[in-house]
This record gives sequence, structure tokens and C-alpha cells, in this order.
Amino acid sequence: MKKKMITMDGNTAAAYVAYAFSDVATIYPITPSSPMGELADQWAAEGRKNIYGQKVKVSELQSEAGASGATHGALQGGALATTFTASQGLLLMIPNMNKISGELLPGVFHVAARSVATHALSIFGDHSDVMHTRATGFALLASSSVQEAHDLAIIAHLSAVKARIPFLHFFDGFRTSHEIQKIEVLDYGTFARMIDMEAVHKFKENALNPERPITRGTAQNPDIFFQNREAANKYYEKVPYIVEQNMAELSKYIDRKYHLFDYFGAEDAERIIIAMGSGTETMEKTVNYLVEQGEKVGLIKVRLYRPFSVEHLLRAIPSSVKRIAVLDRTKEPGSAGEPLYKDIKFAFYGKEDAPLIVGGRFGLSSKEFDPTMVKSVFDNLKSKSPKDHFTIGIVDDVTFTSLDIDSSFHVPDGATKCKFWGFGSDGTVGASKNTIKIIGDHTDMYAQGYFVYDSKKSGGVTISHLRFGENPIKSPYLIKEADFIACHKSSYIDKYDVLEGMKDEGGIFLLNSNWTPEEMEEELPNSMKRTLAQKKVKFYNIDALKIAEDLGLGERINTVMQSAFFKLTNIIPYEDAKKYMKEAVKKTYAKRGEDVVRMNIEAIDRGGEKIVEIPVSPKWINLPDTANVKDEKKPEYVKEVADVINNLKGDTLPVSSFAPDGTFPNGLTRYEKRGVAVKVPVWNAENCIQCNECSLVCPHAAIRPYLATDDELKNAPDKFNTIKPMNKLIADYNFRIQVSPLDCTGCENCVDVCPGKKGNKALEMVPLEDVVDVESANWDFAETLPDKNPMGDKNFSGAMFERPLFEFSGACAGCGETPYIKLATQLYGDRMIIANATGCSSIYGGTAPSTPYVMNKEGKGPAWANSLFEDNAEYGYGIALAVKNTRETIRELMNESLSLGIDEELKLVFKEWIEKMEDVSATSELDVNLRQLLIRKVQETKGTVKE
Ligand code: SF4
Ligand code: SF4
Repeated sequence: MKKKMITMDGNTAAAYVAYAFSDVATIYPITPSSPMGELADQWAAEGRKNIYGQKVKVSELQSEAGASGATHGALQGGALATTFTASQGLLLMIPNMNKISGELLPGVFHVAARSVATHALSIFGDHSDVMHTRATGFALLASSSVQEAHDLAIIAHLSAVKARIPFLHFFDGFRTSHEIQKIEVLDYGTFARMIDMEAVHKFKENALNPERPITRGTAQNPDIFFQNREAANKYYEKVPYIVEQNMAELSKYIDRKYHLFDYFGAEDAERIIIAMGSGTETMEKTVNYLVEQGEKVGLIKVRLYRPFSVEHLLRAIPSSVKRIAVLDRTKEPGSAGEPLYKDIKFAFYGKEDAPLIVGGRFGLSSKEFDPTMVKSVFDNLKSKSPKDHFTIGIVDDVTFTSLDIDSSFHVPDGATKCKFWGFGSDGTVGASKNTIKIIGDHTDMYAQGYFVYDSKKSGGVTISHLRFGENPIKSPYLIKEADFIACHKSSYIDKYDVLEGMKDEGGIFLLNSNWTPEEMEEELPNSMKRTLAQKKVKFYNIDALKIAEDLGLGERINTVMQSAFFKLTNIIPYEDAKKYMKEAVKKTYAKRGEDVVRMNIEAIDRGGEKIVEIPVSPKWINLPDTANVKDEKKPEYVKEVADVINNLKGDTLPVSSFAPDGTFPNGLTRYEKRGVAVKVPVWNAENCIQCNECSLVCPHAAIRPYLATDDELKNAPDKFNTIKPMNKLIADYNFRIQVSPLDCTGCENCVDVCPGKKGNKALEMVPLEDVVDVESANWDFAETLPDKNPMGDKNFSGAMFERPLFEFSGACAGCGETPYIKLATQLYGDRMIIANATGCSSIYGGTAPSTPYVMNKEGKGPAWANSLFEDNAEYGYGIALAVKNTRETIRELMNESLSLGIDEELKLVFKEWIEKMEDVSATSELDVNLRQLLIRKVQETKGTVKE
């Protein structure tokens, strides 16, 4: 038997096992499960063999419905089949899941559990998808960590074939699927020894085969369907015992022991929690700590959720238990309680001295779940009458379900904890993964990495959370007491609470900026200086951008920052770290040529040499907060909700901040002013030929042509220069191209396309900080100018004078899609309803609170909604049917009114509307008259008109 310690994420761990035990993998990608299918595909392409000595046959279908149908077929054809999915993808598999279990076929589905879309889509993790499959007849097996994703995937495959029952093995999306951990991995030879080959042969012999033909999947009538349905009961009865047996078998090869329900905590526990999934790791860690403090608490981790064995559950719970809190990572609106809670209640039904059982919801859509929350659940159990149907981790100020949290509680551990604030494309996440690999592969230390991204498609904030320690790391939650924090982008220090979660004393802060020690006094916000002083932080700066640019690496500062990190933390001796980093660089960049390798190697050396220690003045300790510079012109909603979310403090918003149906106001991106560009274009009027092509190609509507009368220019800022138009249709005005520097992403599309005069471009990229004040003021003024377009929208040049009703989206810099959307809104935006497909355009089109669709000055603009990836066209068709129906109803009502002999004035307008109802511009004009007329007529009828 061979086992190795390898650093990998949960998806890789599950896929590694699935590949070993499967003949066929039918795949279809859906976040966060996609890497499992991709890895299986890659390994098959590389010729990797499964435990039966063959390459797995991997086939990508047209949808998850197709993938599950193909799995079903493969199983009937005698191939051990697997698939990977999540969320709506899993829901699309439900019909075939019923068939697979109904026919006793041992397929295994691996699920990176993810929220099902309700009021909003979410790609993050909870159990709402898995809970939809409770009735399918699949066995449901829950893993709570990356190690378990490996271990219990083995149990799923071994048990499915032995029990003739299909298994759904699930683990939490992102929290486990994307968390990187150093885990123990068994080799395929060991797997081969564990599998019951006799059961495999029996399965294959039972396959459809013309040599021994049979009929399956019949249609049955009321006379026999019911009895036949009950005929499989004995297979389900055996599953818990088969799983238990396989768990015992696995423990011969590993140091861990698994049971259907695993108990952790005090032998004489009086209060326990029952739950499943990654949250139980946090619970286990907290329980261990509380038990050390003398608390009589415990935890049941549910492994096998279906079939649900009451016998095994009751055996696992200590007899001393008096109160139980059941935590479900899902919500079933309108039910008597969430599913696990109801199962536990049922298990104790009618038992003498049954404990008091309450239920709560936690962690929906990967909502943070940390030890403070576990403690609150135990505190609730301790109270005189514990709250039932509670929530934990949010503030519910509407229906008051939430438990209070004692944020001062913390559970110490021996791990070194590091946080890295990066910018979407700067390589920080890649470097963090590389750091984990270096430490994981070259030392005995355990390592954990988890990566948080904001909602932007790219170029947004990334926060890498890394832990290193001597013991396995059971902390699937964000770092709260960092030993080290690095901020790779200096502009973040004003926008985010970068030092949040720094440990109470003696942490290290590394900033990437071009500020001198003297300039720090001026540049750092008071709140940051205060924290640095209060927590006695060791503060260092490095000008990584300058080093990277000098070396020819452009904005790729990752290698410099990684080297500085190793130097400052000394987690491993710096000279060793340098050696390993250089080895990694050679491996990673070899294909890109010697120059790239050399530049990165020099970056490693300079990253260690160019760190500057910045003195932290004790005087900073009592500094007041910097004056609130919030733009008072912002709407309340932006200040109270959108800004809070954008500043990464959305977790603090209470339930009352949100519309119950998930509606968000349009046009919130205009308040973001992200300032993400390093360089932005400025206009040189002399070279401009007024073609407006720059505006046409801008993905973010951040550069626009403006027309102004002489009168309107009276209050213009000094630097708001204009030129006389070349086109005679706009000859009465003054022309200017204006950039919004804080909304520009620096993609240079506008500069690239600008023809200029005689080869001299009219746009030039300059550093943002050089022009941000002047050009922001110019932009603000330009936006006060009345909209006007004497050229009309019949050619693109004229259309650019129309107000874009889609602006400043979170699309990637240089996006090729968004200019078309912008143009569509310029032409038709005031009467658009958008049924958005799911993909990039729905993410940059409607990730709360970044709503880029905006209203014109009359308050009209695109109404936007997204249904599902799976049904976009049908959804849009439904909207079209509704609009058509409304319009036809109006026509019918008008016709009816005409036949009733209504007032002449109305008659004329109704007739004209009916006649022109397919003519947009005509009905738009009529619309205003008609509304006014109708209001007047109603008032006249009521006798309320005042002449
Ligand atoms: Fe628009 Fe890109 Fe030009 Fe900025 S650089 S104004 S985002 S086209
Ligand atoms: Fe002027 Fe260049 Fe824009 Fe054309 S593309 S309007 S020349 S700045």
C-alpha cells in the first residue's frame, strides 16, 4: 500500500477517486464542480488508467440532463459510471436519478454542493441542491473537508457497487471544492484491493446484453407499480451496514476512522449540535476547545444522510445529552422545519426522556460560519427556552430569527495565518497557491488556502487566506487573527479595511506602494495608522510595481511580493524559500522563454532586498477617524447598502436592507468610481477628427462625446476645452470627448481605434494619478449638460451622442461584448426588457449591487432580469408573451370603448393608437397625450376638474 501527502483542492480529491473506480464519466460543466469533469477529461487524454487497467471513457454532453441520461445508459450497458455536478445541474439530473436508483444501478455522482437560484443566482455553497434529491433513492454521503472528499469518495464507490444503490457524494461548493489542503492520498493499487470485484462482475453480468436479453424500464399500471416499488426495500435496508463495513475497511489503510454518524466532544455532553458538511469542521474545533474549558458539549457529524439510519444515530449520541441544536445549510420556505432537523426530531419521536431539539439555518451561499457562531448555538441551547427555527451568521431584524454572536470569542490554534489583498490580474492568487505548494511539498507542515473574489469579472479584489501549521488544519472559515497581511495595491487602503483581522499584537503588514516613509504619514488613512500603532504592527513597504516594471514584468508583481513574504515571515528559512521559488519559476515559465525565467528569478532576489521598514509612530494610537468624505450627493440607498457591499462589509447588512423579492435599483455602478486603471486616456483636441469611434468601442461607456452651447459652457471647469464641430448638423454647439477616469479600466481600446489626424492619435494614456482630479471634475460637469443629438442615431457616429443606458459594468477590461450591449441601449434602451442569459453578461449585467443598466433623464431604461442558464430563451419568450398580451388587451379595451360610443376626443386618440400600435415612435408620442387625456377624462367624470 502506498499513501502520499499531496496538496490539492476538494474537487481534485474527489475526481482522483472517481477516475479510479469508473469505466465511464459523463460530464457537463457547472461551477463549482467543473474542475472534476475537466480533470477526468485531462487524465483520460493523458492516458491515465483506472483500477481496472483502462482509460476512463469521458464524454461531455449537451446539458446535465444529458449527462445523467448518459450515466443511466452507461450503467445499464454495464459500465461503472460517474458524473459531477452542482445546483441547477443536479436538479436537471433528478428524473434520471429516480430511474438509476429504481433500476438498482450503482452510479456515483460527485456534487460540489451549491445554492439553487431563488431570488438570485449564487455560485456559492450550501445544501439546497442536494436536499432536492432526497426523494430520488440515491444514498447521500457528506464530506466536510478536502481529506474527506478523498476518503468518502472511496466509500461512495465501494458501497454503490456492493449495495446496488447509487450514491451522491457531496461536499461544500467553494469552501471544500476550491479549498487547498495538504491531504493523505491512497494509491490506485490500494483502491483495487478494496473493491468487491465479485460485486463488479455481478453488475456487469446484469447489464443489457442481447446474449441474455431481458426487458427493463417497462410501463406499469396501478395493479403492480406499487408492489414493484416496494420490492427494492431490502437493498436500502442493507446500505447503512455496507457503508459501515466499508468505512471499517478503509480505516485499515488510513489513520482516520469514519462512522455513519461520528461523535466528537465530552463523554458526558449535555448540549450537542448535529450537522453535516464543512461547517462541522469548525464545530469540531470549537467543541474541542469548549470541552477543554470544561463545557459539556459535543457534535454529531452526519456522514450517511440517506438512507437515514435512526439506529446508528441514536447509538452515536451520548445518553447524557439533554438538548440538541440541528443545523441545516439550506432553507425550505414554508416547511415545518429544515430537512435534517425534521429527521432528527423524527428519530426521537415517542422516546422517553427525549432531548429538547431545536433547529437553525446557517451558511447559505457560503455565508461565513466561524467558532463565534458555534458558541452562540451552544449558548442558545443553554438558555431557559432556546430559540427554535433560528438563523446564525446574519442579523434578521425583520422576522427576528437570528441569534446574537459574541464576537470576542475565539479559538486559538497553532497555525500561522496570512492574508493577501490582490488585484484580479496581478498574480496574487497564483503566487499564494504556489506558496502553499512550496511549503506543503518541502516541509512536514500542513497548509490550507482559500481564495475570496469580489463580484467583478476580472480586475476586482482578491483576498487569499493561507494557514500553515504542524497539525491538520480544521478551519474552513476566513482568517480573523492574521500573523501577516499583505496589501498588493496601495489604493485599497482608502477603500477597504485592509488590516481587519490583524492579530492583537505583533503582526506584520506589507504594503506595495511607491510612497517613501515620510509620505506614509500623508497617504495612510488615520484608521489604518491607529490600528498599526494599537496592535504594534511591524510595517514594511516595497515598491513592487517599480521593481516589476524595471525588470520588464509590467504590472505582474506576484513574484516580488511572494519573495518579500518569505523574507518577512521566515515560515521556512528564506534561502531555502528562494531556492524553491526559483525552481518553481523555472518550471512555470520555461515555455515562455529564458528571458521570462531570468526576469522572475531577479524579481525573487529583489523582492527580498528592497523591503523598507516603516516606523510606526506611537502618536498614531489616538488618531481620530479621517473626516467622512462620503459623497453627500449619493442616494441614501447607495450609502447605506451598495457602498457597504462594495467595501466588502456586506456581511454586516441586516435582513431589512433587502427587497424580499431580490430587486435592486438600476444604475448603481455609476457610484462605484473604482479607479482600477493604472493609466487612463486623455483627449488631445488638436488631433481629434470627431469620429466618435473611441466611444463606440469603449466596453465601459467611460469615454463619450458631448455637445454644449456657449451658454452651457459658462460654468465649465477651466480645463474643459472644446472644439468647433466639423459636422454641420451640430455646428451650433461645441464638441468635446470626455473620459471618466475613475470608471475607465485602462484597456486602451479607445486609443487603439483612434485614427487621429495624420497618424497622430487624439488620445494618450497617462498615469491615473496625474489626471484624476482634473478629469473627474470635467466628467462631472459634462454629465450636467443636457442630452442632445441633432445628428440622430442612424449612423454610429450620431448614435454615440445618445446616452448609453449601460455603463461602468464589472466586465473585464477590453471586453468585446459590452460595446454592443451599450450600443443597443443607446438605440433602444428606453423601451428594452432584457431576459439575460446566464454567463459573463449576467455577471457583469446584474451582480448585486453592481447594476450597470441605468435610466435616461426621463427615468426610462432597460428592465433587466435573469432566470437560469438552462432556460434563457423560454424565459425571454414568456416576457414577450406577457408584453404582447398587455398590448392586445389595450387594443381590445379600446375597441370595446369605441363601440360604446365614448367621447370624441378619446375616440380619435384610441383610433390613432390602434392604427399605429406597431409603430414605436408614433405610439411613444401618442402615449404622453393619451395618458394626460385619460387622467383628464377620469377627473371630469368624477367632477373634480378645476378650470
Ligand atoms: Fe474605455 Fe478602455 Fe478607453 Fe478606458 S481605456 S476609456 S475603458 S476604451
Ligand atoms: Fe477623436 Fe480619436 Fe475619439 Fe475619433 S476616436 S472622436 S479622433 S478621440
